[in-house]
Amino acid sequence: MTEMSDIQTAPPLRTERSAQLFAEAQRYLPGGVNSPVRAFKAVGGQPLFIARGEGAIIEDADGNHFIDYVGSWGPLILGHAHPEVVAAVQAAAARGTTYGAPTELETELARLIVDAFPAMELVRFVSSGTEAAMSALRLARAFTGRPLIVKFDGCYHGHSDFLLVKAGSGPLTLGAPDSPGVPAAVTAQTLSLPFNDLDAVSQAFERHPGQIAAVVLEPVAGNMGVVPPVAGFLTGLRELTRRHGALLVFDEVMTGFRVAYGGAQVLYDIEPDLTCLSKIIGGGLPAGAYGGRREIMQLIAPLGPVYQAGTLSGNPLAMAAGATTLRLLGRPGVYERLEASSARLHEGLLAAARVAGVPVQGGRAGSMMTLFFTDRPVTDYESARTSDTARFARFHRAMLEQGIYLPPSQFEAIFVSTAHGEAEIDRTIAAAHAAMRVVAGEANGPA
Ligand code: PMP
Repeated sequence: MTEMSDIQTAPPLRTERSAQLFAEAQRYLPGGVNSPVRAFKAVGGQPLFIARGEGAIIEDADGNHFIDYVGSWGPLILGHAHPEVVAAVQAAAARGTTYGAPTELETELARLIVDAFPAMELVRFVSSGTEAAMSALRLARAFTGRPLIVKFDGCYHGHSDFLLVKAGSGPLTLGAPDSPGVPAAVTAQTLSLPFNDLDAVSQAFERHPGQIAAVVLEPVAGNMGVVPPVAGFLTGLRELTRRHGALLVFDEVMTGFRVAYGGAQVLYDIEPDLTCLSKIIGGGLPAGAYGGRREIMQLIAPLGPVYQAGTLSGNPLAMAAGATTLRLLGRPGVYERLEASSARLHEGLLAAARVAGVPVQGGRAGSMMTLFFTDRPVTDYESARTSDTARFARFHRAMLEQGIYLPPSQFEAIFVSTAHGEAEIDRTIAAAHAAMRVVAGEANGPA
């Protein structure tokens, strides 16, 4: 058992082993990582190599212990290595890791999802959030027979070519790719508009009559930091898409089973046409899903002509981990307790900033939250980007030195799990008071 007393409390961090492993990794992996944000470039310093996790705590290769608020970027709502999830995965693995044939476990997880989401009648499993969003939008285009996709600046829907369009071009201009290698002809079919701006969406429909297949969004944005929808935004999108014959697609990869049992659509009582899921539904193993009304979903092969397939789709280990996770989340009181500890953390972090005189804005939906280092209210990508990322980096480093592992970027969400108890939250808030003094320049920060 990892104890709270094991947790790193003060600088300096031992990093020799992580540094060695990072150097070795860079010989074989581009930048030493398999997903860019892990490289710590946004906060400086080098990434820590993680050796194990248990509950709310992770241990790195140098033996440092941290209270973890990354939770593998969302999936670990029950904390690391939950005994029941581990047992389910072990039992499944002992029966074989994959067959490429139907299993009862797939139906079981699908039933749990359909029961939790009133707007989902049929579900197709894939292996990542990227696949879920890409496939859902292929289906939306097929169903409507229209080419254009509307997304929002700062919303991330995975790395498929046509969704790698974030910002830059003003409202109502057709998208330019965010990455070399993405043909402009592909992103020319994607319009990126300001989040929380219903007028921009309305104008897009007027400007491209009969051309917009779908409006896709994170109903609570999490990939520009946490930015909840303003009152009326989601209902407005529902009305506009209906009126113009386009589909409304909720990318609930992050919010699904995070902000409520079900997702943001349950919390805000909106029925999208299609929903994308991943992260929590895989219980820490690779799984994604998309689903919606039968009328739309039945266009997918083998029922219909829209092709989409996957060698490891519905993988038995992932299905077992996901179903066990959802069953545990379905117990009474889980989300109420998560809400209480998350609210306590959020308020504690804001208070720490206030006391130190550091301007910050909070953004929170349930157990996902961000502290933006800005004095401007954050409602979209443009306002999120007024954050002082250098200040965030100092805060991040000062927290890390005190044993608190936060996402290494200003524009990501802090995730609280059911394994974060009062002791962990209080410890984190105390560390934040010290870290905010460093940010304010009152205390000497680590180099
Ligand atoms: N959609 C959203 C809302 C996400 O947060 C993410 C990943 N953070 C994705 C899609 C892509 O998922 P994946 O990394 O599993 O491909």
